[in-house]
Amino acid sequence: MESLMYRIAIVRKGQPADRRTAAGPGELRDVVYGVIRAEGSTITDADHSGLIELIGSARDMADIEGFAGLEFGAASITIRPATPSRPEKPGKVTPSDVRRYPAYYIAGDGRAAAEASSCDHGYRVTDSCPCCP
Ligand SMILES: [Zn+2]
Repeated sequence: MESLMYRIAIVRKGQPADRRTAAGPGELRDVVYGVIRAEGSTITDADHSGLIELIGSARDMADIEGFAGLEFGAASITIRPATPSRPEKPGKVTPSDVRRYPAYYIAGDGRAAAEASSCDHGYRVTDSCPCCP
């Protein structure tokens, strides 16, 4: 499954990280294009296909590996899926899974699996259990 949301950090030496989110591949590309332009490069029509391929392969890597990096001039860009594309383990969902990946288990595709799972105290893991940390 492809991630729909990405967390992006743009880092330049000596500056705080500029953190962004992208709601999909188009916004991710816009952020990367913005960085390239901010680094003083002009993007010509001839550059688009190569850049789209580069950004697309970085996105694939982020989807599969959970992390991808790009560098343009003095800027480093890291890309992570905001929702894990592959939850770490199939089957029973634990309360710590829900705490770690709320976007996936509460609001995302993992909701049904989370609702079908209960903690050691008998509460559904989507409900707050008074005994779980
Ligand atoms: Zn519990």
